[in-house]
Amino acid sequence: VKRSRLKTDAQRAALMRRVRRSGTPPERIVREVASEIGLRYRCNVKSLPGSPDLANKRGRWAIFANGCFWHHHKGCKLGTHPARNAKFWADKFAANRARDARKVRELRALGFEVLVVWQCQTADRKRLFARLSKLGESSAVEAA
Ligand SMILES: [Zn+2]
Repeated sequence: VKRSRLKTDAQRAALMRRVRRSGTPPERIVREVASEIGLRYRCNVKSLPGSPDLANKRGRWAIFANGCFWHHHKGCKLGTHPARNAKFWADKFAANRARDARKVRELRALGFEVLVVWQCQTADRKRLFARLSKLGESSAVEAA
């Protein structure tokens, strides 16, 4: 039992290092894809709930690009609980998730279309392209 736990800790540490070092934060990939599509947006829009990573106020859409570990992506291999300090992490993840959900609700109440892109989903660029292409479709004509 002890041995497998050590292995888990070691794997987690290695994974975290890799994620940090490879340095392709999900926001950056989402921004690149949004620019390829030709979407107009601002980054870290502090005047909106949750400071969305990308947003277009006129087009009434916002995107959160979430790291799977910090935002605790459920069912994702990057969203696991570290074995050590389990209570600390469980509380932290619960708080992060609750805050994320609240911000999305607040934005939707303001009439925004909200897209949450998880870090693990940014690997499939084609799919991301397709998802982002649909943003603001309903308001595209007015905004033009
Ligand atoms: Zn994930």
